[in-house]
Amino acid sequence: MQVLFEAQSEEFIGALGEYKEIWTLEGEKIISALEKNSGKKFNTEDIQVIIYEGISRSGREGRPMMLRASYTRDVKLGTLVHELGHRLQTNTKDMTSLEVHMELNVYLYPTWVELYGEEFADIMVEIESSRTDMYKEAWNTYK
Ligand SMILES: [Zn+2]
Repeated sequence: MQVLFEAQSEEFIGALGEYKEIWTLEGEKIISALEKNSGKKFNTEDIQVIIYEGISRSGREGRPMMLRASYTRDVKLGTLVHELGHRLQTNTKDMTSLEVHMELNVYLYPTWVELYGEEFADIMVEIESSRTDMYKEAWNTYK
């Protein structure tokens, strides 16, 4: 499986470089930590990632992943792990967004802790919880 990053337009070239650098340094570790903590395996299909300015999305069923350009480096890292984590989920068609995130958080949190420590994980939980009530509820249910 390859993860292929591209910028939606010129203005995101800087952010693209940062995501690519993160992936070169962390990609293998991220994949193996997610697989270990979820007990699932990525399939071998390449993942297309578009860097843009908007809400980050995992993208599935042939759609590319979309990642926000303006995050700090740490939030880029944490969010990349989050969105890749969604790619391990199956049969989510009839699940609500809250249910999807409750399922994800069970292995996302230990993956963040394993990779970057508890402080990093707790900051990501805080950041996500401040985004929407759905995220907040998903994390409240986990904690
Ligand atoms: Zn998500």
